[in-house]
Amino acid sequence: MNPADADHHLERLSEKKRPLTRLVFIITALACLLVLGLAAWFAAASRQTQLREAQVANTNIARMIAVQVESTIKTADVALVNLAERVEHDGIQGSALDRLQAHLAAVAGTSPELHGLFVYGADGTWLATSLGRPAAGSNSDREYFQYHRSHPGRGLHVGPPIRSRSTGVWVIPVSRRINAGDGSFAGVALVTLKIDFFERIYDELDIGKTGTVLLALTDGTVVYRRPFDDKLIGANLASSPALQTLFRQASGSAILVSTVDRIERLYSYRNVRGLPFVVAVGRTKDELLNDWKRASALIGGAALLVCAMIALLANRLFEQIVIRDQLDDKLRARSEDLAQHNVGLHQLAHTDRLTGIANRLMFDTVLEQELKRAQRGDACLSLILLDVDYFKKFNDRYGHLAGDSCLRGVGRVLAEQVIRAGDLAARYGGEEFAVILPNTDRGGAVAVAERIRLELLALDIAHADAPSGVLSASFGVATVAAGQEAQLRPADLVARADARLYEAKHGGRNTVRA
Ligand code: GH3
Ligand code: MG
Ligand code: MG
Repeated sequence: MNPADADHHLERLSEKKRPLTRLVFIITALACLLVLGLAAWFAAASRQTQLREAQVANTNIARMIAVQVESTIKTADVALVNLAERVEHDGIQGSALDRLQAHLAAVAGTSPELHGLFVYGADGTWLATSLGRPAAGSNSDREYFQYHRSHPGRGLHVGPPIRSRSTGVWVIPVSRRINAGDGSFAGVALVTLKIDFFERIYDELDIGKTGTVLLALTDGTVVYRRPFDDKLIGANLASSPALQTLFRQASGSAILVSTVDRIERLYSYRNVRGLPFVVAVGRTKDELLNDWKRASALIGGAALLVCAMIALLANRLFEQIVIRDQLDDKLRARSEDLAQHNVGLHQLAHTDRLTGIANRLMFDTVLEQELKRAQRGDACLSLILLDVDYFKKFNDRYGHLAGDSCLRGVGRVLAEQVIRAGDLAARYGGEEFAVILPNTDRGGAVAVAERIRLELLALDIAHADAPSGVLSASFGVATVAAGQEAQLRPADLVARADARLYEAKHGGRNTVRA
């Protein structure tokens, strides 16, 4: 590849590499963004899925609990309707009381959720109970008793949880009014449901370690809450913002902070159909998202790792590009050096060291070209040969260094006088010089030679051994006409000029012969 081609090639390379670094940067940034974006999107989507699935599961559990509460209360109500009807028709005297007592015990044994069945008189005294012999005293202070005494309705009444006077356990009182024949208040039929029955069911639900189940009356009274806390049962949470949110709709789901333990949970809640109960199932948000957090951390870590690897790769690529840049620069600098060096070498090879004008090699090359051109018929060609007179004697008298400086003077005169484009002045050898004058006829060449001769004399270099007393030179001129002498060789032309020079020498020197 020549130097110009190499330079061009380098230019093309450096034009390409700038967009390349930009491209590497853009692709790296996009790839990292894509990986991180995908990871973030995946994490967000799986979090949504996790919460949605938990919500569905919670809603199903809440629905099942509501159904179970409803069926338990219905069971109690069937017993109550039966009991009220029996007391109103059969009365409670004599054998009827014994039969009633046996009936209560039999019914109580049929369902595990039933704690006891009771019949109270109009004054609140115990008339019959499934728990054996009635206790002494009055239950007229109980909420359900006062309710039925003051409400003529025959409907089912559910009261707030109470501690049983007979067994000391927490129970839910479910009751109906007993009327006398004239419709006046004759007493209360009561069924109590064991709260620990609900506790056993709710504690078995798989809703996480800190999951909660709440069974409350619609007025906000807590019937049961998992985990069991004695102090909470019967407490009224109507003022709790969380519960107010739950009560606002018949059913739904929400993420709320519990008033009781300040834990944030995902709650699903619903009213029990036709009964004054509300149930809520809550799963702790942190627990729900545990698996998701682990998976997200793993995916996030993997995404960061991939980004780091991409960045590492890009960095390597950048380094390679930088190295290539440096090599390019060095190569360019070297090739410039080389080009300059070549020019220098070329000049050196064609220049005479002493005088600074063209040397013999250059003279031969140019003469051959110009002779051919003249023979082709373009134009005529003249050649001047000049030889310094008595130079041996000059050297002998003034020394070789003075002789050298003298030759440099001749070179300067030639350089000054031979300035037309295409003309060439050269040192032919020793104290002989030559001037090639293309497109110059004999007359023109003689004029140039004459001018040089006079300029040499004008240098006024003293030469005691020359007849004129100053340094002079003799000139021989040869000319070839345009398109003539096709067989003439450069040496022939030189010989012709040399012959004229010889004539000049013998004709007394310091003269021009053509
Ligand atoms: P003529 O007038 O017939 O030309 O006599 P000449 O003495 O000039 O001719 P000759 O050929 O006898 O001598 C040429 C001398 O030129 C011989 C040589 O010492 C001297 N010479 C040749 N080249 C150099 C050079 O480079 N430097 C110096 N100082 N002298 C040179
Ligand atoms: Mg000579
Ligand atoms: Mg001489």
